[in-house]
Amino acid sequence: MENLSLLQYELNKKLDETKKASTKIYEENEIVRKYLKLQEEQNKLTMELVNISKEINIQKWSSCNHIWVITKHDYDATEGRSYNYGSCVKCGLSYEVFLDYEKMGKDALNDPARKEMFDYLFMHNTAQYKGLSSNYCCNLEKAQAIYQKIKAKNPNITDEIMLQLWERELDKKLKRTRKRK
Ligand SMILES: [Zn+2]
Repeated sequence: MENLSLLQYELNKKLDETKKASTKIYEENEIVRKYLKLQEEQNKLTMELVNISKEINIQKWSSCNHIWVITKHDYDATEGRSYNYGSCVKCGLSYEVFLDYEKMGKDALNDPARKEMFDYLFMHNTAQYKGLSSNYCCNLEKAQAIYQKIKAKNPNITDEIMLQLWERELDKKLKRTRKRK
């Protein structure tokens, strides 16, 4: 206890000294003042950009008429049940974030973009009832690549036709993979 109090005293003294030294440099040097002001501006702009990108994503997810496909299938041995996780091929919104969260806990949300998606789905848990869904299963990257390819060739098709073409394309790919084996 006594040792800790002594350490606390020493650290406080050191902190005071460094504060005084940095204030002196700040007051005496215009360049330092300019530098710190620019840094402050940079931080402000970065924060604004983070908020805007968040807002853009939220608007993208809430205005999308989703096309859900199964992008992850997981078997829970303890429960003896399997779970499907859907993702939207159009906007990339994905329930897979819940699976990651279940497996890794908070660490799964270290990526701010994933944390954002998790929060959005958590708050808007009716998202899955909006739009069309398919029982076809394939990973999200491939699912979105197929969607992009069809969309590029047929920019004006309806979601219903899109889903049919998407499933047909995946069927073709699956057949091709089976033949290769
Ligand atoms: Zn969507």
